[in-house]
Amino acid sequence: MRVIKSVLQMQKISLKHLKDGDEIGLVPTMGALHKGHASLLSKSEKDDDVTIVSIFVNPIQFGPNEDYLKYPRSVKQDLEICRKNHVDYVFMPSVEDMFSQGHKTFAEVKVMQDILCGPFRPVHFRGVVTLVSKLFNISYADRAYFGMKDFQQLKIVERMAKDLNFRTKIVPCPTVRERSGLALSSRNTYLSDDEKNVSLNISKALKEVQQDFKTKNLNFIKKNILNKLKKIPNSKIDYAEVVSFNDLSIADKNTKKVVFAVAVWIGKTRLIDNIVMTRRGEK
Ligand code: AMP
Repeated sequence: MRVIKSVLQMQKISLKHLKDGDEIGLVPTMGALHKGHASLLSKSEKDDDVTIVSIFVNPIQFGPNEDYLKYPRSVKQDLEICRKNHVDYVFMPSVEDMFSQGHKTFAEVKVMQDILCGPFRPVHFRGVVTLVSKLFNISYADRAYFGMKDFQQLKIVERMAKDLNFRTKIVPCPTVRERSGLALSSRNTYLSDDEKNVSLNISKALKEVQQDFKTKNLNFIKKNILNKLKKIPNSKIDYAEVVSFNDLSIADKNTKKVVFAVAVWIGKTRLIDNIVMTRRGEK
């Protein structure tokens, strides 16, 4: 496993692999790796000749009052996880190298960036999409792996890759959860034991309303999720929404495949989660 810190060097290495006919897998991360990230690494290890993991806490996807500075960083442990998962390259550029002075170019995915997390994190998706398109150009990846946990991000990146004609195929990966149901997230490290206990109610609420999808209308479902979330102590709800799996538009009674998506603050920690539901007979 090699750790590469220079953008130019990473790009040269990737190009060489491309010319040699190797299939390249990319797993973009912000580090503080856990079993959710590891599931993406192991999928790439199976599918690709070469796996590149990027570890980069991307400053342009954080708003001014967000947790960029205190975002968990654990490089030593991350490298160990990468090694265990047979990663070939860990790409860890500096902020200065990724965003050289005078950087002025940004990519955006209109409409899809304006719902769910969008209104609460106004610069977030622009920052993600800009970084991911840079990573695609640096890695020449055949496949890039994204977790369903960040469902809006996954769909926005899929759209961007299609619209901008990237060669990279986006591979969605299922959400990895603790046995309790809590979706793994680097931000879970912010939670106290008590907060972690109450956080379980987020995935529980999503699971409980699953049954409603067969028989109840979407407004009822939304209200039901909201009522369950409101009961969580020390919490504040950013949103609870039911959207179309395909394009993130607000779902209606004709939408066959939907996503229940929520964002909830537990104390000072913002958690997101979702569950995908399909009407009977649909894939
Ligand atoms: P992050 O480091 O939080 O930017 O996440 C990097 C990638 O790992 C993203 O594609 C996430 O969706 C994915 N990821 C994070 N948590 C999980 C999880 N619990 N299960 C599956 N994928 C995850």
